Amino acid sequence: MRLFNTLTRKKEEFISMIPGEVKMYVCGPTVYNYFHIGNARPFVVFDTLRRYLEYRGYKVTYVQNFTDVDDKIINRAEEEGISPEEVSKKYIQEYFKDAEALGVKRADIHPKVTENIQEIITFVEKLIKKGYAYEVNGDVYFDTARFEDYGKLSKQNLEDLEAGARIEVNEIKKNPMDFALWKAQKSDELAWNSPWGKGRPGWHIECSVMSTRYLGETIDIHAGGQDLIFPHHENEIAQSEACSGHPFARYWIHNGYINIDNEKMSKSKGNFFTVRDILKEYDAETVRFFLLSAQYRNPINFSRELMEQSKNALERFYNAKKNLEHLLENAVEKELDAIEKDLYHRFEKYRQKFIEAMEDDINTADAIAAIFELVKEMNATVRIEHSKQLIKGSLDLLMELTGVLGLLTKKEDTIDTEVEELVQLRQKARKEKNFALADQIRDQLKERGITIEDTPQGVRIIKK
Ligand SMILES: [Zn+2]
Repeated sequence: MRLFNTLTRKKEEFISMIPGEVKMYVCGPTVYNYFHIGNARPFVVFDTLRRYLEYRGYKVTYVQNFTDVDDKIINRAEEEGISPEEVSKKYIQEYFKDAEALGVKRADIHPKVTENIQEIITFVEKLIKKGYAYEVNGDVYFDTARFEDYGKLSKQNLEDLEAGARIEVNEIKKNPMDFALWKAQKSDELAWNSPWGKGRPGWHIECSVMSTRYLGETIDIHAGGQDLIFPHHENEIAQSEACSGHPFARYWIHNGYINIDNEKMSKSKGNFFTVRDILKEYDAETVRFFLLSAQYRNPINFSRELMEQSKNALERFYNAKKNLEHLLENAVEKELDAIEKDLYHRFEKYRQKFIEAMEDDINTADAIAAIFELVKEMNATVRIEHSKQLIKGSLDLLMELTGVLGLLTKKEDTIDTEVEELVQLRQKARKEKNFALADQIRDQLKERGITIEDTPQGVRIIKK
């Protein structure tokens, strides 16, 4: 598989450190609110990368942190009159609700900053000892000038960064680009004891510490949104490599931005949507489909039009699945004949196409296109006369490929016991030759986008 590595700005062949195993770290949310659609993209695309690696036989160890110490959490706690712990606990639970709805599997480990304070202190002490960090008035800063490779991820050198840096009113730092590893307590906010007095960790240090603690000094893949390249990931590299003397992550993978109606998402523009809001209007799987409809590095535009397109596209997949299930119930068992074998081989070419797309830097747009072609061909060729074996094979193939993308996972019984009841009522009406009522129910269902077909094998429900 080839992955675009931000570190080299090239698509590279992916080779894991240990054959058959992948160690992967994804920067997680700061838990002070419901997450927005921009955050949802990395969760979904890196979940898909993980699913694909597992599909290819890798054992993936996946770590995604929760930032549960942050100014935003402290501010939210003050606003709501509760403790920062209560704020983060609440939004971690809410994260799991939305992530699960979007089909994002749980990480193997979801570490929190508050559970790693001692490890963070030890890490910072080591950096001071090695001469990469210094303490001033209870703050500890990373000394960027001491780390020669500073800027290697974002491709900026220290002089240019300093020239472009806003002049901060912070006389105590040696260098404008130096960043806080530990912040001294200012008033009575959340703080822990440390060798430098009471305080709390800076933001970047947590990911260096947790990645090292749970995955080792060097990992295979470190991933996150493009907005994290600088300064967050640049600083993670500096801290980690200064501390261990080894490369921190071998492949740095970053996803592109989400625009809203072709504009950048921002609170001031009022186009800042949480996933929770969007789920009031759209099914979660439609949101996932939308997020995978573009290759992950390309920008993606969130608009009503594209959401409607995603909804319709997903319905076509579901209709194909239902159609095959319906055929399967009624087909007969017999050996595959030559024609059927040939047909199945044709279907399998789309598996190859799907894999080729995913191998090319997880091109989910092309992978979805391959499934579309498969569905089109299956719809045109698979018939009730075919053997159960062929129909089952076709259905399995469809579920295999959509499963890698985390799609077609909805259970049928979630669609509408109500619809089911109406259909049964109509059947009863037909039996009693009350065709006026039967037709009325049919029209009523049509208004909901549900078409009913009477086939010799029974009633077929088609949801548009
Ligand atoms: Zn991080």
